[in-house]
Amino acid sequence: MARGAFDAAVVGGGPVGGCCALALAAAGMRVALVGPRPAGPPAALAAGEADYDLRVLALTRASERILARLGLWAGIAAGRHGRFRAMRVWDAASPAAVRFDADELGEPVLGWTVEQSRIVEVLWRRLEGEAESGTLALVPARVESLEPGGAGDAHLGLDGAGATLRARLVVAADGADSRVRELAGIAVRGGPYEQRAVVATLACERPHRLTAWQRFLPDGPIALLPLDDFHRVSIVWSTTPAHADALLEMEPEAFAGAVTEAAEARLGAMTLEGPRAAYALRHQHAAAYVEGRVALVGDAAHVIHPLAG
Ligand SMILES: Cc1cc2nc3c(=O)[nH]c(=O)nc-3n(C[C@H](O)[C@H](O)[C@H](O)COP(=O)(O)OP(=O)(O)OC[C@H]3O[C@@H](n4cnc5c(N)ncnc54)[C@H](O)[C@@H]3O)c2cc1C
Repeated sequence: MARGAFDAAVVGGGPVGGCCALALAAAGMRVALVGPRPAGPPAALAAGEADYDLRVLALTRASERILARLGLWAGIAAGRHGRFRAMRVWDAASPAAVRFDADELGEPVLGWTVEQSRIVEVLWRRLEGEAESGTLALVPARVESLEPGGAGDAHLGLDGAGATLRARLVVAADGADSRVRELAGIAVRGGPYEQRAVVATLACERPHRLTAWQRFLPDGPIALLPLDDFHRVSIVWSTTPAHADALLEMEPEAFAGAVTEAAEARLGAMTLEGPRAAYALRHQHAAAYVEGRVALVGDAAHVIHPLAG
């Protein structure tokens, strides 16, 4: 197990921690990325029971630029990904509607849709390459204790054989339930949205026209994100926990019918492809992003609603 002193210890190897470790190493810092490698492709995808990862992230052009500066975008763009040139947002209870078009902004696209497993794969391939060439250290352990350090280095206690690690800066990228944030004594405010997000992949009768569709329903918004195939979308439907449970339990045809109706049949009749899942949604904001030698990033700092911010 790695021991030693680093300029920065980034805790958490998710998308935010992995990118942060690469950025700090590129800035010339001696960096340790502490945390397990995130799991590979979801079981259904690996087993061929699903064509797409259920977790598809919409990335803005700002995220694309960050990934490009870190040398990750080319690898992501070389694989399967979708793009959206327009967004259509409308309300079920009123005539209110808004549209955004890339052409009006002079941009080639408004953003991209990328399967999360693809991002993690490209990121970790790169992290492992950097570790092999000695640019950063990968420490596949979980942080269990923290001595904040004061004027000296912070000390991290890792699981397994009492290993420790010292760093001038500790970056907490260990997600919404951040252990490092808790150990640093940083409070959070927020709570559940009383909503769950149902995610699924559906085939659509009409092409998605490179458009991200979002309709605000009384119980929460439904979003249809265009995939690389013009007749496939990834949906995120935020709704009450009871309705989310009902949507998960429906027969596939009934579920697809409910999505078609919720989307006002803008893409014609929909057909479910593969499994469904639901995520509990919460809003959460740390009282401080920096405390002594600890800095919070990503979900450790701020968790927001995936659709409405
Ligand atoms: C339904 C849904 C849809 C979403 N859609 C989008 C979208 O379209 N676009 C978008 O940008 N975002 C989206 N998000 C949000 C996005 O998924 C998160 O903001 C992002 O994954 C957070 O990344 P992270 O690296 O901060 O945390 P995480 O991905 O949670 O990673 C935290 C890492 O820390 C590790 N870890 C935890 N504890 C320890 C410890 N003690 N020691 C060491 N390591 C530890 C974990 O193993 C994990 O690898 C969505 C979220 C949801 C729920």
